[in-house]
Amino acid sequence: MSAPTLSRTGALLPVVGGDTPVPLVDGRTVPYANLDYAASAPALTAVADRVNEVLPLYASVHRGAGYLSQVSTALYETSRRTIADFVRAREDDVAVIVRNTTDALNLLAGCVPGRVLVLDCEHHANLLPWVHSVGDDRRRATVLTSADTVAGTLDLLRAELARGPYALVTLTGASNVTGESLPLDRVVDLAHAAGARVLVDGAQLVPHRRFSLADTGVDYVAFSGHKTYAPFGAGALIGRRDWLDSGTPYLAGGGAVRDVRTDRTLWQPAPARHEAGSPNVLGAVALAAACQELAALPDGALVEHEEALRRRLLDGLSTIPGVRVLRLWPDSTDPIGVVAFTVGDDDPGLVAAYLSAEWGIGVRDGRFCAHPLLARLGVTGGALRASVGVGTPVEAVDRLIEALRVWTERGPRAEYDVRDGCWTVVDDPRSGVDGIDALAATAAAGCGPVVGE
Ligand code: PLP
Repeated sequence: MSAPTLSRTGALLPVVGGDTPVPLVDGRTVPYANLDYAASAPALTAVADRVNEVLPLYASVHRGAGYLSQVSTALYETSRRTIADFVRAREDDVAVIVRNTTDALNLLAGCVPGRVLVLDCEHHANLLPWVHSVGDDRRRATVLTSADTVAGTLDLLRAELARGPYALVTLTGASNVTGESLPLDRVVDLAHAAGARVLVDGAQLVPHRRFSLADTGVDYVAFSGHKTYAPFGAGALIGRRDWLDSGTPYLAGGGAVRDVRTDRTLWQPAPARHEAGSPNVLGAVALAAACQELAALPDGALVEHEEALRRRLLDGLSTIPGVRVLRLWPDSTDPIGVVAFTVGDDDPGLVAAYLSAEWGIGVRDGRFCAHPLLARLGVTGGALRASVGVGTPVEAVDRLIEALRVWTERGPRAEYDVRDGCWTVVDDPRSGVDGIDALAATAAAGCGPVVGE
């Protein structure tokens, strides 16, 4: 396990690719300034080391009698326990290993025995599984328009819960647009008093704050490995056993069943019930390793690191004319290191292309898979989002601020144009990194609409 100390670069923990050089349009090369952790975070070095360590042990799991099969099975099941412990699961909670948060939320949507209450400020992953009608009345959800303050939103929640009954209140642990959140303990009190359970979409919260099911009373949490410094294709849904034991099996197939005849199937209880097919052993091992690394950080280190970066980012943005930082609830406390903003009326796709081509900075632009939230904030043309994590050095934030200052004072040096719906440099001379022509690859894949997701 690596030491939880500040590294040479100002990062809290070493990540793979933290210094990867990227080409600029003027022919120079600079270390990549990754300010897109909220989308996907780089692997912790310790996670990559752990994956390499267990690769020689990898073999079939659960049904293999061979020695390595049994080692792999033990690794998978131990990882499940470690991941559950990381979010302080209760003794009788179940941890289902899934692909990502989207997978986890869709899985639970098939298990909730009643109506669902969801806010309009959610990521689509925590909105569509509940409102997407599949002809099953139980899945119907009420989408509550949140108020401009935390206090007002809690009042609306209380009033709507009284109109229930609701089986579940689902909300984000931290917004992927503003980093803000409602106080979970207050929501749990309101929901439980009304007989509803609480699900937290922990995609942004879990990698950035210590979270405890046991202490908060939250009933379910979902999160993704690739946002938790373990980009090996696994995520987790953890929570109360009864709904998961009786809900619709998420995937039908081998491993999820006790006995099959042609005219009937006996399903396993959770977690096996929802994990049909060969499990992602290495993904689970990677996620468990990331959980251990984050858990080993000294108390407060994570918050201190991210808060310092967020503060520096906000202070810097406040000096750039025309910048508007998006806020859902200005009275919310302890936002994580995710900041979305607009720069006057400038097209966020163009600004993002400039930041990449002329400064080597990676940010996200668009509507961040949260269209209702952006609409509520009156942002129709999309925005920019900078997000940080344990591998972010201060220099990356400073570079962004300097780049935005230059943008507003002088504008871009290169010429940009929309090609295939995406802002690109006209006659881009960059030829890629380490023989991989990323630009050609992106163009070949098509990069979506200008006001994208
Ligand atoms: N919820 C939130 C708050 C997110 O930020 C994201 C992804 O950005 C998701 C859910 C979906 O996560 P995934 O793409 O890993 O399924």
